[in-house]
Amino acid sequence: MRRGVAPRPGGPYPLRRQGLPRASLPAVETTLVLFKPDALHRGLVGRILARFEAKGLQIVGLRLLRMSPEMAARHYAEHQGKPFYEGLVGFMTASPIIALALRGPEAVAVVRRLMGATFGIEAEAGTIRGDFGVSRSYNLVHGSDSPESAARELELFFPDGLEDWEPVQAAWLWDA
Ligand code: UDP
Ligand code: MG
Repeated sequence: MRRGVAPRPGGPYPLRRQGLPRASLPAVETTLVLFKPDALHRGLVGRILARFEAKGLQIVGLRLLRMSPEMAARHYAEHQGKPFYEGLVGFMTASPIIALALRGPEAVAVVRRLMGATFGIEAEAGTIRGDFGVSRSYNLVHGSDSPESAARELELFFPDGLEDWEPVQAAWLWDA
């Protein structure tokens, strides 16, 4: 009996060996997640982070910081002038946040699905916003809405770049 066989890079049954063309592989993306002040005040950081980790997303950046009004204005530039904008900046700068860079197959869309719809009261059960809140503004998390937004937002929160490392689980989690 063979024992202790190490998984090969690319997993034991990679898509390649299933006869699927490389082009069908999902793109590996990196996305920005923010734990908003309410997530820290409510002591939900660990439980929310656990969901992203369990999904198979890799942490490549992590920072605790206090957002300045200037930073909030840059991050939420698309919302300037909207009725909720001033309140949003006040909320996001009220106390520290955690910025997280997550990497994985189609990470931008995967994170948005895990987060759920914008308002907790409408977000589906099973999602982060759906399970942990009922507010229309205090909604615990931010996630980039496209790969282009992710690139811009990651630059804002991680100007010194991200940490590149090979998770040992990758071979069993990610198609190759
Ligand atoms: N927001 C709010 N009131 C609104 C719409 C949005 O307070 O009517 C806040 C909320 O915190 C939301 C953020 O502004 O997460 C950004 O809004 P967006 O529409 O981009 O939602 P998201 O991408 O976060 O789901
Ligand atoms: Mg948005």
